Amino acid sequence: MSLKKKTKHFWPQNDEVRFDIKFKVENGAKVPDHFADTLKKAQELLNKVFYSKEFKEELYKQSYNDSAYSKSKKGCFETVYDSKNGRIAGKAVYDNLIANKNINLLITIKNNGDKKGTMGSSNACIDKITTYDYWLVEKEGLSQRLARHIAHEFTHIRGYRHDNKVDKAYKWGKKTNEDPAYGVGSIVGDILSAWSKKGLI
Ligand SMILES: [Zn+2]
Repeated sequence: MSLKKKTKHFWPQNDEVRFDIKFKVENGAKVPDHFADTLKKAQELLNKVFYSKEFKEELYKQSYNDSAYSKSKKGCFETVYDSKNGRIAGKAVYDNLIANKNINLLITIKNNGDKKGTMGSSNACIDKITTYDYWLVEKEGLSQRLARHIAHEFTHIRGYRHDNKVDKAYKWGKKTNEDPAYGVGSIVGDILSAWSKKGLI
């Protein structure tokens, strides 16, 4: 008989893959008090979500525009899509997101002046995220919003671009459901909201 205690967790016990997220604050930018704790919490939430059954199941149901990859010459990810129907399967995105067991990210917090159109940015194959400070205000759920933001940016790091970053011929317009980064961000956000409502986090 196994001595292992039967624990009932809502995410699989997968301790192989872990986010390790550090941050720095640029001159002129501001973060709330205890931001390091908030980020730590966001990191734990990401660890839970990325290896949850829900995350895998939801992502497997999705299909995205193959242009998200267009013209990329970066080598840190595999370009997996169906050339017949021109789609990226959610499974391919999932596999790509969890391909590396240790996900080390550095977030640089910047002041973006009056510009509030974007929460931050990142580039394929560079484990760095720029986050603008205007939305980092301490209120209910900052760690969850941060987790969602990091998941969105991490999807870019794993090679998926927005429509505005691809060549004209490959654009898919404003349809966010065609976009892997928006897709992953909203799946993470929805899972966290659901867990939060159930009192699981
Ligand atoms: Zn983005």
